[in-house]
Amino acid sequence: MAKKLFIPGPTQVHPDVLAKMASPMISHRGKDASNLQRNIAEKMQQVLYTKNKIVLSTTSGTGLMEGVIRSCTEKRAIVFSVGAFGDRWGELAKLNNIPVDVHRENDGEPTMPQTVDKYLATGKYDVVTITHNETSSGIMNPVGSISEIIAKYPDVLFLMDTVSSAAGAKIEVDRLGVDVCITSSQKALALPPGLALASVSQKAQDRVNKIGKRGYYLDLKTLLDFVDKKDNQYPSTPSLSHMFALDFQLDRIMKEGIENRFIRHMEMAEFMIEWGNKYFSVFPKAGFESMTLTVMNNTRNISIADLNAELGKRNIQIANGYGDLKEKTFRIAHMGELTMDDMLEVTGHIEDILKLN
Ligand SMILES: *Cc1c(COP(=O)(O)O)cnc(C)c1O
Repeated sequence: MAKKLFIPGPTQVHPDVLAKMASPMISHRGKDASNLQRNIAEKMQQVLYTKNKIVLSTTSGTGLMEGVIRSCTEKRAIVFSVGAFGDRWGELAKLNNIPVDVHRENDGEPTMPQTVDKYLATGKYDVVTITHNETSSGIMNPVGSISEIIAKYPDVLFLMDTVSSAAGAKIEVDRLGVDVCITSSQKALALPPGLALASVSQKAQDRVNKIGKRGYYLDLKTLLDFVDKKDNQYPSTPSLSHMFALDFQLDRIMKEGIENRFIRHMEMAEFMIEWGNKYFSVFPKAGFESMTLTVMNNTRNISIADLNAELGKRNIQIANGYGDLKEKTFRIAHMGELTMDDMLEVTGHIEDILKLN
């Protein structure tokens, strides 16, 4: 029996969604493929509260992050990192010879608006990257107040990584002025891994057009030109299987109600933060805890690997800490298909295994 996943990606996929991955193939150059993209885009716009263009990439989220930072930076990018996935933006820029500076907070600390202001005020940058939800530390950044700062600098493009939060937390792309909002299929959207999605503003598209093509497969101009001019199709064959499953999953999300979905995630987060602080302590700074996963300090000095092995015997899997935080912390995801009953189940098993009561 497959284990129930409480890891922050890939997450549990509903059996009906999994089944859609096995739909018969269609031509990627036909009307049906165009309609599929149009339907997905319309629904994703609702999930992200935006009128911006929606594009897909048959890569995981990192593929779009790479293409986007390369295609959007003309002058210099400033990366605000609060952990491993923020650091990744910096690496992607450097490895692509994109001029970049990285401001790194200590693990567990958020990006604060005044820090962003300090950098942007220098006038050195035309791109800023923010991690909405840092999956290594369980921080959710205060993007409302950060966006007010970025709005003061109209020549700066706002790129945001919402890989582990989109469809699990309310992200109002247009209100926040996010120029490129990137996510992946396998986290709160609860699909198998292998597809990345982004919303792209006109301002970002203008920049990309001005810069011109950089690369091919991950190039944002190539992607946008094709979707625009070739009736919502893609330059190369996209993962149609993912598109069938995504289209169906977005219908399921609409049926649950987007707001209801966010409330469900919020309730799970509140429960897990309270549980975490009762039996351990919660790693991220108070007031900045993620809505889609909770990272706990290993205050009891247990072996997280052993705990996970015991949970495995009960067909459950949680996540160890990420990178340097391994064994010092552990992570329980509450995103996608998971519900309050699942939270009671996983915490009940942990209480039982560790004899917490
Ligand atoms: C998982 C994750 C990524 C990487 O996404 P992939 O789809 O695995 O490439 C990037 N950023 C955040 C915040 C993530 O959680």
